[in-house]
Amino acid sequence: MKYCRFKLNDETHYGSVEDRGGELWIAALAPAPAEDLAYRLALEEAPAENFKPLPLSAAELMPPVTPSKIVCVGRNYRAHVRELGNEMPTEPLIFLKPPSSLLAPGGVIRMPAVSKRVDFEGELAVVIGRRARNLKPGAKWRDVVRGFTLANDVTARDLQNKDDQWTRAKGFDTFCPIGPIVSDELDLDAGLSIETRLNGEVRQHASTLDFIFSLPELLVFITSVFTLEPGDLLLTGTPSGIAPLSAGDRVEVSIPDLGVLLNTVGAG
Ligand code: MG
Repeated sequence: MKYCRFKLNDETHYGSVEDRGGELWIAALAPAPAEDLAYRLALEEAPAENFKPLPLSAAELMPPVTPSKIVCVGRNYRAHVRELGNEMPTEPLIFLKPPSSLLAPGGVIRMPAVSKRVDFEGELAVVIGRRARNLKPGAKWRDVVRGFTLANDVTARDLQNKDDQWTRAKGFDTFCPIGPIVSDELDLDAGLSIETRLNGEVRQHASTLDFIFSLPELLVFITSVFTLEPGDLLLTGTPSGIAPLSAGDRVEVSIPDLGVLLNTVGAG
């Protein structure tokens, strides 16, 4: 299963996505997931018309999910912990980004004037598919995970260091690019190869096998705190190679079979 969310004639739709000869296409309209109530209500008023398949690259994409919360993990790749000079964590360090920080594929990351250093953080994101709380070790993570997508955990690094917590540094509007598709056709257990390119140059390249905490461990820890709802996002941490962004930059995050999350950078 692969799907996206996009705008067509000013209306939001979900589309099922297919790989056609190495290029991702929106093949047909798809039913909305249960959590997107606004979409389901709109559909009752205005049923979808005939739809012609189109390449994903030609679509006006939106964030593919509508989460009630975005849970993030700091310091989950060994090499990234070392580059920040932090201690190796003994339990996950989690924080939240607000849903208002979501940004569509192709959208412009706005650098707030109050920060002098805004970094990219390419990450694998997990989309929750079923309500989950107090998961026990050994629970089947696939039962609660709908699929995977790409994210950029944009961070005002100077504000992260200045504030006692990270709400402001991680929470500005446009600081959570996400997409372009959600897919469950990935083998996380075999390790996923994640790459971030800045203006075409590879800056982050790692395998999720370098995770300090595995996805099952993260889900057990996080659901001991929050109830996770369908559509919620879990950003699994960034590899080493973080660097600052400047106005005019193009930043791309990719994992094979998940497409490319491309965003540009603009002044605030
Ligand atoms: Mg991060």
